[in-house]
Amino acid sequence: MVPGFLSHLAAGCYPSAAMIPTDAERAVARDLVSFIDRSPTPFHAVAECTARLGAAGFRELDESDEWELGAGDRAWVSRNGTSMVAFVVGHEAVARSGFRMVGAHTDSPNLRVKPAADLAGEGLRQLGVEVYGGALLHTWLDRDLSLAGRVARRDGRSVLVDLARPLLRIPSLAIHLDRNVNTSGLVLNPQRHMAPVLGIDDSDASAPLAELLGRALPELTAKDILGFDLCLYDAQPGAIAGAHSELLYSGRLDNLASCHAAVGALAASGDSGPATRLVVLYDHEEVGSRTAQGAASPFLRSVLSRIAHARSSGAQGLDRALARSSFVSADMAHAVHPNYADLHEGQHRPRLGKGPVIKSSSNQSYATDGESAASFAALCEIAGFEAQRFVNRSDLPCGSTVGPITAAELGVKTVDVGNPMLSMHSAREMAAVADCKKMLDVLTLFFSRR
Ligand SMILES: [Zn+2]
Repeated sequence: MVPGFLSHLAAGCYPSAAMIPTDAERAVARDLVSFIDRSPTPFHAVAECTARLGAAGFRELDESDEWELGAGDRAWVSRNGTSMVAFVVGHEAVARSGFRMVGAHTDSPNLRVKPAADLAGEGLRQLGVEVYGGALLHTWLDRDLSLAGRVARRDGRSVLVDLARPLLRIPSLAIHLDRNVNTSGLVLNPQRHMAPVLGIDDSDASAPLAELLGRALPELTAKDILGFDLCLYDAQPGAIAGAHSELLYSGRLDNLASCHAAVGALAASGDSGPATRLVVLYDHEEVGSRTAQGAASPFLRSVLSRIAHARSSGAQGLDRALARSSFVSADMAHAVHPNYADLHEGQHRPRLGKGPVIKSSSNQSYATDGESAASFAALCEIAGFEAQRFVNRSDLPCGSTVGPITAAELGVKTVDVGNPMLSMHSAREMAAVADCKKMLDVLTLFFSRR
């Protein structure tokens, strides 16, 4: 008999074994943290995904080449370096077995550098930035920010750059100059209040940003750089945290956590399955997807058509294949927030650590229907857990994903799912360690089952 406050140990009820991640769950979450740390921008995310796929036997294809594909081939193709499709060709004709597809997005809301960005004000150098997507602006204040992206050269070629050190900061205003901020709320104007400080202005006439890029890319001079696509990011690496190391804090969990699970599941997929298995990772989901490489582009349909053609499926092969295909749209879900629990629908309150969530919206902000939900829920059961469910409160507007766009473009049965998280669209979000492996496991099952 254990007396007093230790009696819970004898009862075996503390710490709750269910909430302590297993070694295998920790390993997947640690791998996700390093994946995200290596992926400060969509360019770097695609580079990291393709490096991992390359190590798993996938080869690169070019959209401008003729493709020859055989059963068991493992390949990937990228568009703009920010969207990509990777696939394993099945042993059966696609007209017979269809495509088994998982989609996610590589972009996250952030701050992006304007073309003529160098600013100076009150003795400080600053950079002009635009807000990309629905960023929670206040979360970018008082952070150690760095800069990464793509630099385009005079000859039209481009290189990736990551300055990878604390470089910039958007200082918040001292409370002494805004006494009501805690009671009236913080209002940030994206033009006036978000320009980060880059350093002290020493009145040198040279352009600080071009100098910085030139120093980071010794093969280039500042004059060679005629264009760039640069993002700000939080220089603080992701962390495994919480009382039992059961939580995960990082930027870009929406939606690099889903990219990580999708690519991991495809890389683990064998060469001998009958169906063609495929992952598509899109850029520009956070700004509406209507771009050359977004979910509303012909990118995925073009790849599917070329696979169908290369596997000699006949004139109706692609349409027959699409009629037998299924699509899992993987994007992060809103866990119930303990301080704002009433903002969730009473019967649909996904919890951190309880695994993937099936998201529904009868207005089709999510593409899930009863049948696609049932198929995914059955996979979760086989994987050893019960799927959580999410629907928005009826009096609140609903977010969306690449799921409905892809479903409308291809006419393929689709389910919208995602792991639960908090602080969505913050510069630093949070999720649960145990959920990473659950999503990896269920997507692996989705690819492997007949
Ligand atoms: Zn998302």
